[in-house]
Amino acid sequence: MLNGRTIVITGAARGVGRAIAEACARQGGKLILADVRSDQCRQTAADIASTGASVRFSPVDLASPESIGALAADIRANEGHIHGLVNNAAIATDVGGKTFDEIDIALWDRVMQVNVRGTWLVTRALVPLMPQAADGRIVNVASDTALWGAPKLLAYVSSKGAVLSMTRSLARELGPRGIGITAVAPGIMRNEATDYVPEERHRFYETGRAVPGPQTPEDIVDVVTFLLTKGALALTGQVLPVNAGFVYN
Ligand code: NAD
Repeated sequence: MLNGRTIVITGAARGVGRAIAEACARQGGKLILADVRSDQCRQTAADIASTGASVRFSPVDLASPESIGALAADIRANEGHIHGLVNNAAIATDVGGKTFDEIDIALWDRVMQVNVRGTWLVTRALVPLMPQAADGRIVNVASDTALWGAPKLLAYVSSKGAVLSMTRSLARELGPRGIGITAVAPGIMRNEATDYVPEERHRFYETGRAVPGPQTPEDIVDVVTFLLTKGALALTGQVLPVNAGFVYN
């Protein structure tokens, strides 16, 4: 249970981030939802608050170090400290379909800036708000495409591979402070972000799973909420594929 734990979730306006926020709220977490889609995330926060949960919106653009600094300052002023961070925000849509020699440099740079540098900068800004007594937990949302090497998705796959490596290295740096950090590597889901993916590609994944069939964000949220608990510290540095057995780690 997440009773009394203050948790920041990035990219919570919709999709996976929203589902994680709803699950954290059901477990009693006090939530700050951060996203660049301000109107949508404000509405998400209002929807979850209407269930009686403690939740608010705070804007952030992961491409902007200044914006990430402002998020940290806002949380420091309002909550003072946090117990959990879910680095979920990423450029996760309209990033596939081109081969390694067709991807344009602007897309590559944008994906790296948000998915890799943004994850690092948010972590760097919010770790100081996790005192040792808070049993800080960080969950990075990666992707199983980085484990099996999905084709025609190179910028995204490379960014998620970096997030996996970052998780392992940060575990060693943050462990002495009592902070645990893990990554989940979900398989492809059926949601707005993957509407652009051809149906045959969805079917390729869905028939290749140990448990065949589509995945939704709801299928992974219980793993994420567990990783945010005090009891998950022994898993620090680990990458958990949450993909119904498409690829193993
Ligand atoms: P999504 O596009 O629906 O949600 C991503 C969220 O991140 C959006 O709310 C978006 O506004 C936010 N975001 C994007 N750029 C941002 C920025 N610069 N600053 C702040 N917020 C920003 O995608 P999703 O499917 O919900 O994906 C969520 C996470 O799950 C991502 O890390 C994604 O890589 C991962 N994932 C998704 C799938 C899938 O099949 N959908 C599979 C594996 C992993």
